[in-house]
Parts: sequence; C-alpha cells; structure tokens
Amino acid sequence: MKYLFGPINSRRLGISLGVDLVPFKTCSMDCVYCECGATTDLTIERREYVPTADVISELDSYLGDAPAIDVITFSGSGEPTLHSGIGDVIRFLKEHYPKYRIVVLTNGSLFWMEDVRKAVHDADILVPSLDAATERGVADINRPADGITAERIVEGLIALRREFSGEIRLEVFIVPGMNDSDTEIHALKQACEAIRPDSIQLNTLDRPGTVETVRKASADTIARITEMLHPLPVEVIGKPDYSRDVSPIRGDIDESIIRTLTRRPSTSDDLAKSLDVRTTEVIKILARMIDEGRIEEKVQERGTFYCLRHTEQH
Ligand code: SF4
Repeated sequence: MKYLFGPINSRRLGISLGVDLVPFKTCSMDCVYCECGATTDLTIERREYVPTADVISELDSYLGDAPAIDVITFSGSGEPTLHSGIGDVIRFLKEHYPKYRIVVLTNGSLFWMEDVRKAVHDADILVPSLDAATERGVADINRPADGITAERIVEGLIALRREFSGEIRLEVFIVPGMNDSDTEIHALKQACEAIRPDSIQLNTLDRPGTVETVRKASADTIARITEMLHPLPVEVIGKPDYSRDVSPIRGDIDESIIRTLTRRPSTSDDLAKSLDVRTTEVIKILARMIDEGRIEEKVQERGTFYCLRHTEQH
C-alpha cells in the first residue's frame, strides 16, 4: 500500500485509516511544531501530486474486505487539499463505501480558494488548523508559502463555514511565546466568533517538533487560554487512547515502522499499539534501526520518541 497507512486508533475519531495524497512534506506551511520535519516543497500550487486513479484503486482494494474501521482520514506528511483530485477521491468513497465517515485534517490555509471548498464539500468532518489570527502570529508559527496571509486564512474559514454543512473542528496549536499572549488570544477569539466552528480543540506539543526550541504549553497556560476563549466551545486535547484493537495493513514490520515514523515521531509503546505488535519486539527492531543509522531517538516529557533520520524519507 503506497497511499494508505494505519489504521490508527484516535481518541477523537475512532479507528482511522489514513490516506496520504502528497509526497513527503509537500505543504503550504512550514510550522515550527510540525512532527514530520521541515517542509521541503513549500507551495500553494494545486495539482495531481500522485495519480488519483491509483489512490482510488488502493482504497477499493483495501475497503473491499470490509475492514473494521470507523473513519477514513485524509492527512499524512503534507497538506492534502493541495492535491487537485481530493474531491474525486471523497466522492468515490461516498458513493461506494458510504458507511465510513470521511475526515480531512488540513492546515486550513487554502479555503479562500473556491475550488478547495468545493472539493471537501462531501466530507463529514473537517479539522482545519488556525493557530493565530494575526499576520505576525501566522508568520512566526506557520511560516506559510507566499500568497497565504492570516486575513485570507480567516476569510476562507468563514466562507467554508457558510457553505459546509458537516462538522468543523478547529484545531489551535499553542506554542509558548508565539501565540499565547493576550493580544494573540483576543485576535483568535474574534476570528473564532466569526468562523463559528462546532468546536475548538486546543493542542500543544506532544512529540518532537521541527524547531528544537519549541516547548509544550503548561497546564496553567492552557487553562488561561480556555478561560479567555469562553463561552466558545473549547476542548483540550488529551493523550491517545489505545483501548480498541487495530489490525494494521499487512506487510513487513520494518516497513510499517518506517512508514509510521515518516508521518509522526512515536514512542515504542505508540508503535506497538498502533501496529498491534508486542513492545519487546518493537524495541528490538528500533535498536537495530538505530545501529543501522536509519532512525534516531529524542527524549521528551512523554518518553523517548523515535524519528526518521533525514536520509530515510519515503
Ligand atoms: S504541521 Fe501540518 S501544516 Fe504545518 S508544516 Fe506540518 S504538515 Fe504542514
């Protein structure tokens, strides 16, 4: 499977099959907190980055076995709405596999383009990001491609809300020192009042980010921001819940680990649970991969994370 990954067990979405529509780190932003590393193709050009027909055929083959998943999520190591065929893939899924809900995780930077709003129209849940509503905040945190401004992002999200009848969960990633000041939060609140998402999900660093100095927001900071955003529907994102069993896409375990680490740094426990393999086995494989120079360790508050070294990109 080239374009599908997981399924992973997500606390917010259930058992989720991932679809990755763009090559590694093709994105319209280069966020300081990105789990996948620095953006290598920073662009707002929409095109068929991978063949739409091949993605549809992979989905058809996987879903034909009626797997026990809840949702199909467009996400991965770049921005999925950059792919000009995303609307065709969503329509295919709605027509042929209507029992699965469709989710799009997006950085929310392209909804000022009417084509992008139309492309995601048939999805069930959209999870766009909005980390800041000032030009300074967006420049500092998201470091977007030319053509993307805070004003455009907010206008696009307002238009999206007007036209999209499904659920919109707006995700705000708090970066201490960049978007946690009173000024930033006031601007964000005003934007959220105009956008009217169904919920606002506050998130902060859980895994190593692209910029090493970026740190996790404290519980006090998150509590202060939640209070400032009141009475908007704010939810604080917790840790992943692995209470349900997941059967990974079959294939070589080394390959599955590398594919997972391409998309997000993970602990040995995260990998064991998402790939349904014993932790002791995962630890042995990770130790070998470190010796081979394919991956490296980063120690964080939540534990030791394993990341891909730069040469190991898929
Ligand atoms: S966090 Fe998302 S939007 Fe930001 S650089 Fe990474 S992939 Fe792109």
